[in-house]
Amino acid sequence: MVEYDSVLAALASVGGDQLVFDLAGIRQRYDSLVRELPGAAVRFAIKSCPAPELLDFLTEWNSGFDAASPRELALAIEAGAPIDRIHYGNTVKSDEDILAAYRLGVRDFATDSVEDVVSIAAHAPGSRVFCRIATSGEGAFWGLSRKYGCSTVEAVRVLVTANSLGLKPSGLSFHVGSQQMTATAWTRAFADVAEVIVALRAHGIAPDHVNVGGGLPALGYLDTNGTPLVPPIGEMFASIRAGMAEVRRVAGAPIGFRLEPGRHLVADSGAIKARVSRFAVRELRDGEREHWLYLSCGKFNGLYELDQVVYPFVFPTHIGEESAPAVVGGPTCDSDDIFFQGRPVVHVPTSIRSGDPVWILSSGAYSISYTTVGFNGFPPLPATFVRPLEGVAC
Ligand SMILES: *Cc1c(COP(=O)(O)O)cnc(C)c1O
Repeated sequence: MVEYDSVLAALASVGGDQLVFDLAGIRQRYDSLVRELPGAAVRFAIKSCPAPELLDFLTEWNSGFDAASPRELALAIEAGAPIDRIHYGNTVKSDEDILAAYRLGVRDFATDSVEDVVSIAAHAPGSRVFCRIATSGEGAFWGLSRKYGCSTVEAVRVLVTANSLGLKPSGLSFHVGSQQMTATAWTRAFADVAEVIVALRAHGIAPDHVNVGGGLPALGYLDTNGTPLVPPIGEMFASIRAGMAEVRRVAGAPIGFRLEPGRHLVADSGAIKARVSRFAVRELRDGEREHWLYLSCGKFNGLYELDQVVYPFVFPTHIGEESAPAVVGGPTCDSDDIFFQGRPVVHVPTSIRSGDPVWILSSGAYSISYTTVGFNGFPPLPATFVRPLEGVAC
């Protein structure tokens, strides 16, 4: 269960439509990762919340960064993170991207194909490369399985090629899929990593690190009945620790670990402060009557993931009042801009009116990235970081 007290206090302390982050909550998640996974260095996945202010704090807390483009690399560098704590974690990059990263001083690249390795050798000579192994994505809301990563056999070929081209075959990585809900996903991925480490030994290659990616879940999402989902976070940590121990055992030499959390770090500490545009009872073509809640923001400015995720909604001026299940829609003229999940899933107080406040909890992950410049003139939500509350050192 997520403790929302400090997020609610943060929401109450600011005015206007915006995305509000409780920095103390992000710090708590960061500390819990460091505590639960000793020996794993944090490389924050920038895309989950690319706010310069957050990157500054994370740098102070000794986090590094997983960046996916020259622009994200530059953001991490501007935040003051040492260059050896920043890696280019995207397997998809052009020759020009690789050269731009090299010129920025980056020497650490993800890869999953021989073609990419050949380009890294040409445009970022002598760099370190880590090869991403594909996972099934099973158990995750977003599988990430097809676009990224290669087979265990191919990973050996990719790193052997890197070695022969003067690159340093420095590591292996995987990503079990975003909002992973099972602990066994990590167990399977670590088994593949162990297999590749053993196979590489025959080629005289010993990676110096394993990157266990992201995928750790937000803890505050609901199912379509409005019941909190309860990801087995303790088991996930245990399964990652067991995997790390197994990798250390088969490696036979000192090996480091990296972790690239995104969603787990920021989702539950971010919330959207919006307003009711209109609450209406609409009669559809088939004569069915449906409640609709139209909000001041939607899929194109903060709620992009609303077609996959059910967030907890709070109607602070109508707590405990009689409610009805409603379809939620954003303000644009786009029919994708709705929150439906096969049936109305959000219970809305029936006396709610245009202009009343609506708070959408656990919506901090990816909401900044998935924002258009202003579909139909509805602008991106500004993001505010509410300073840590007492007792949290930052
Ligand atoms: C998106 C991404 C992450 C973060 O994933 P989460 O599921 O948000 O933790 C980590 N690593 C890579 C390479 C990514 O692309």
